[in-house]
Amino acid sequence: MSDQIGVTGLAVMGANLARNLARHGHQVVLHNRSQARTDALVEAHGSEGDFVPTGSVADFVQTLQRPRKIIIMVKAGAPTDAVIDEIAPLLEEGDVLMDGGNALFTDTVRRTEALTAQGLHFVGTGISGGEEGALNGPSIMPGGSAEAYELVGPLLESIAAVVDGEPCCTHVGESGAGHFVKMVHNGIEYADMQLIAEAYDLLRQGLGMSPAEIGDVFADWNTGDLSSYLIEITAQVLRHTDAETGAPFVDVVVDEAEQKGTGRWTVQSALDLGVPVSGIAEAVFARALSGHREQRRAAQQVLPGPGTTWDIDDRDAFVESVRQALYASKVVAYAQGFDQITQGADQYGWDIDRAALARIWRGGCIIRADFLDRIAQVFTDEPDVTTLLTNDYFRAAVSAGQEGWRQVVAGAARNGVPVPGFGSALSYYDGLRAERLPASLIQGLRDLFGAHTYQRVDKEGSFHTMWGEDGREVPA
Ligand code: NDP
Repeated sequence: MSDQIGVTGLAVMGANLARNLARHGHQVVLHNRSQARTDALVEAHGSEGDFVPTGSVADFVQTLQRPRKIIIMVKAGAPTDAVIDEIAPLLEEGDVLMDGGNALFTDTVRRTEALTAQGLHFVGTGISGGEEGALNGPSIMPGGSAEAYELVGPLLESIAAVVDGEPCCTHVGESGAGHFVKMVHNGIEYADMQLIAEAYDLLRQGLGMSPAEIGDVFADWNTGDLSSYLIEITAQVLRHTDAETGAPFVDVVVDEAEQKGTGRWTVQSALDLGVPVSGIAEAVFARALSGHREQRRAAQQVLPGPGTTWDIDDRDAFVESVRQALYASKVVAYAQGFDQITQGADQYGWDIDRAALARIWRGGCIIRADFLDRIAQVFTDEPDVTTLLTNDYFRAAVSAGQEGWRQVVAGAARNGVPVPGFGSALSYYDGLRAERLPASLIQGLRDLFGAHTYQRVDKEGSFHTMWGEDGREVPA
């Protein structure tokens, strides 16, 4: 069914989304702050579909039929507010504004409240897949009222990636739910990439393999349980040679990983929610450490390592152990990410279907992976599961690889190779399964210095010990 939609913000994402919409038979009314982008789009791709260029916001709004459907694709933050402030007063009751930028979910909550009060629908829409996905089919995560989704859902579904005949687009939940899950998606992406980088580093430092050889290992892994877009492109990057020097591409790139901020947002939100997303946090911090050039230079000159040479007899067994460590740590990272989604939904009152979410991440987005089929199945079969790790399939998969995982983490520690992702994932796994945690000692300390009280294993209630007096315990 063809429809009409307005797109404002025609940089790379907006232009490609507009082309995707036009290619699917929709009439696309175009607007951009500076008209040059609108003209360039029509000039280069006007023949791809039904584009209607407009030169002003007023013209843009007037050209659209009611209820108007508009998607904003501008820089997140203040520019998005500026565009909303300009367009919203010109709209009429029942019109739908969508924000497809990488908005912070709390901004989306605020905008939803303000625009709803004006009788408008607001749909904060996470879009993943980069510029290529925007053009050929992204994973789309819209959040807003059910009424709004009824108006724009079919349009969004028509341009999304498709897996097993299903569009990678679902109504995620009310208000900021779409941008919240997009944020966690990006956090998981950070963790996934950190784990991949650690696996590469272990194979290089442990076995002395060349980047191209390691690329072959990743290509092989991509045929099994780890099959995913990120593993596939890792093989491509590792096999790439720098044209200028003939050196492996990874050796000519400065080893400082940059970040735009969605990983940091994920961790900040997790701290607010009290959810341990240690894999994502380690990934964000590992990027930060990589960027601390001065500290690294100073440390390289004076901090001693273990002084060992990693002597590995069975190379194939080591490669397999690294694969197991990668898979197990990845399961932990996804378990933590979905945990954050569960807690966020609970905290903010959103009804998020985790199985549907895992299904729309199977295509179009950066973390797309066969593995997400399994995750969708878990949440379908066990809607009340408290962590992915206890599900039969993942429990068996992780425990089968546990020996390799432990060997890799221990070997890395012994030989001075940093593995914050693998190590923290293993500690999380051991922390979750521990019958007793040393948290009881922490409670004791807190009670001693701050009279913070504690609970006992053998009776109800809160207690305090009179540490400074006779050590008597009193009910708190
Ligand atoms: P940019 O984030 O670079 O934003 C450029 C666009 O924003 C231009 O159209 C620009 O207009 C417009 N703009 C900036 N400030 C204002 C303002 N004050 N008022 C009106 N318009 C303004 O473009 P991208 O295409 O890279 O991304 C668009 C959105 O999509 C962003 O929110 C981004 O985070 C998100 N996103 C990007 C992905 C990517 O891979 N790039 C992936 C997923 C989401 P002008 O031409 O006049 O300067």
